Formats: sequence, C-alpha cells, structure tokens
Amino acid sequence: PLKPEAFGAGRGSTTSGNGKTGDGMTGAGTKGAEIQKGEALLKSGGSSDSGKSSAGSSPKGTTSGSGIAISHQDLSEAPMALTPSDAGWDNLMGTAPGPRMNATFVTLARNSDIWDIARSIRQVEDRFNKRYNYDWVFLNDKPFDATFKKVTTSLVSGKTHYGEIPHEHWSFPDFIDQDKAKKVREDMAQRKIIYGDSVSYRHMCRFESGFFFRQPLMMNYEWYWRVEPSIELFCDIHYDPFRYMAENKKKYSFVLSLYEYVETIPTLWDSVKKFMKNNPEHIAEGNSLAFLSDDGGDTYNHCHMWSNFEVGNLNWLRSKAYIDFFESLDRDGGFFYERWGDAPVHSIAAGLLLKKEEIHFFNDIAYYHVPFTHCPTGEKTRLDLKCHCNPKDNFDWKGYSCTSRYFDLNGMEKPEGYENQQ
Ligand code: GDP
Ligand code: MN
Repeated sequence: PLKPEAFGAGRGSTTSGNGKTGDGMTGAGTKGAEIQKGEALLKSGGSSDSGKSSAGSSPKGTTSGSGIAISHQDLSEAPMALTPSDAGWDNLMGTAPGPRMNATFVTLARNSDIWDIARSIRQVEDRFNKRYNYDWVFLNDKPFDATFKKVTTSLVSGKTHYGEIPHEHWSFPDFIDQDKAKKVREDMAQRKIIYGDSVSYRHMCRFESGFFFRQPLMMNYEWYWRVEPSIELFCDIHYDPFRYMAENKKKYSFVLSLYEYVETIPTLWDSVKKFMKNNPEHIAEGNSLAFLSDDGGDTYNHCHMWSNFEVGNLNWLRSKAYIDFFESLDRDGGFFYERWGDAPVHSIAAGLLLKKEEIHFFNDIAYYHVPFTHCPTGEKTRLDLKCHCNPKDNFDWKGYSCTSRYFDLNGMEKPEGYENQQ
C-alpha cells in the first residue's frame, strides 16, 4: 500500500472529504442536479458513470498525464460552481482510504510567524494532509492572537488546537546561574555565533528538547510531525508517514542530517558520556552510536538529524529513558551555559536509546528548510510524485551531510541517482 500506485487507487475512492458518497448524482440533496453532476464529473475523473472510472486506477494511460482526465468538452458540460464548496475543489483528490493513526502535526510559533507558518501549512495540506485530515497543535509561550487562529484554522483540514506553554517550561530553572549564562551570551555575540546572544532561542531549544511532547494538548496523541515556518515540501506524499512509522515499528525519523556547529555544544558529549555511565540500562542494544561517534563513543563527530522536520513517537519521548536523558543533560546547564540545540539532543537520544532499525530516513519526503534541501535523486520517484525540486540541490550526498554515514551504518543501499550527486 506504500507504492505510488496506491495514490492512484485513492482517487477512485467513493468517500469524499465532506462525508458524502461518490454517487452523489442519485441523491436528492439541496444542491441543483447540474452542480451535483459537476461534482461527480470532477470526482470520477471526467467520466460520469461512477467512481470506478479507469482514471482512478492508475496515473498511467490517461490523456492528461495527471490521472484526472477532464477534457474541454467535459468542462463545458459542467456548470460553473458558485461557491468554493460547490466546486468540490477541496476534495478533488478524495479522502485517502484506510485507518488513521493517533497523530498530530505540531508547530511551535510566535504570532509574528503567522505568514511564514501559513506557507508551510498550505504546502503540507496540498502535498499530504488534504487527503488525511490530521489535527494540528500550535504551541506558543504567549497567547495566540485572533489572526493566527483564524488563518491557521482556515488552512488546516483537520482540527486545530492552540496551547500556551507554562512558564516553568520556558524560563531559567533555579539551578542556572543567570550571571554566568549572561556572560556566555555576551561572549557568543562577540564571536558572532548564530543565535549566540539569544535568550528566547535557548528557551525554544530546551522546550523542544524536553517539554513539547508533554504539553496537555499533546498528551492526546501517540505520533507527531513537527512543522516549522517557511519550510517547503516538493513532492506529493502518497502514503501516510504516521502509519508507515507505526507499521514498521519506527520511533524517530529524518530527511536531512548534518554536522552541528561545535561552538554551540563544546561539552554536550561529556554530558552524554556521564549519562551513559550512570544509566547503562537505558542504552539500547544495536543502537546507532556509530552514527554519532567515530571512535566508539569517546568523542562526538557532531552528526545529527535536523529536527525542524520530525515524524516521531511521543510515547518514546515520554518514556523514562528519554526523560532521564533530558533531565541529566538539563542539570548540566548546557542549554544556557552553551547553546545546545534540540536537534543534537534528539539525535543523540535516538542514536543511543533506540535500536538502529527504529530510526527512519524518509527519502520520498522532499523538504526544504533554509538553507538545505532534500530532493529525491531518483528521476522516477520525482516524476511519480510530481516533485518540483531540482535534484542538483539535494544535500544528502554532499560533504557536509551525515546521511551517507547513516546508510553505511545500516548497510542500506543508497537511492537511485546517488552516484551523480557526490
Ligand atoms: P532555526 O530553524 O533554528 O533558525 O530557528 P527558528 O527561528 O525557525 O525557530 C525554531 C522554531 O521555534 C520555529 O517553529 C519558530 O517559530 C519557533 N520559535 C523560535 N523562537 C520562538 C519564540 O520566542 N517563541 C515561540 N513561541 N516560538 C519560537
Ligand atoms: Mn526554522
């Protein structure tokens, strides 16, 4: 069910997102028969006889190449829709068949991020969620304003929820020496380390490392997909990544990996080694230590998976192993005395606390967060999924990416097109 062909099969589905069935032509609804006929034409791929038209069975062999064979003649027979809902446009691709996981998108944002997150949401909806209608949780250290709620609710096809982060999760813990932390920020500002002088960025990194998954709104879910402002998705997502994770016993996933700026984490690995020594019971057998260290754990090679994209299991983050890990690191103070990012923290946890098979690389989720792109290198994948990224921009196999290392460690064959990209 995870092949691109499944996408085509979804189009012939008889259930549409608005809860009506595909043979709306026979129903005596409130809409005019002409409009119903128009909707039926759109849903059935241009054939008026039913949802089982051949256009629904495969994207191949149709005249338009898009799998939706609407000829000019058909369009002239369809009445002009008077409202967006009459047009049935939101449901053109149909609701994806199959079960839904207990999952949500999650975004941490400020009110001022509204237009940047709007762009991200629109892409996630167009490329995926429009057919799946998963919920979306928004978290903020301040109350969300009316515009933020209105715009995001209009864009998300699932339910939206808005949470305010409690002060304890977005402030200095009492064991932090504030003067020492301030001196660090001044020093980092001088050395021009990115976000080095920022207090809020540090609260953000600590929150994403240790608290987002235990906000009351998040307690309702088992799976999350993190989305940040101004990201891009370049390809259709033709299956449910949450379901893929669940069915394949994955706990954490990524699309981009790279080396962390050492200036932001000089003593992170010392802290990690202390945790490993004190908590050997939490270290998984068959873990990915080799992704993180080139000398059996003595030093950190700075490889991490980029956490601005994550699909993961919330119960793992809420487990004793992860919470012990976070609390041990937090006590050492590096979120404030250095500038530890949530990306290396999550990655190191995934690398040590999970079995290596529990970490997944989503090659078919094409993604951009400034300044890096993951674009599948295989041409067939890109065409099947209607990708609009330039494969030359793909970062995976370039020198500063750690993704090759992940493939080698897992004995995985690199995707088609890899050779042309080094
Ligand atoms: P970068 O990706 O590391 O450059 O950092 P971003 O500026 O994208 O911040 C990471 C995430 O945290 C994004 O989802 C931001 O919207 C969010 N974020 C950053 N700072 C704050 C803040 O002070 N308050 C809130 N509510 N969200 C923040
Ligand atoms: Mn970002």
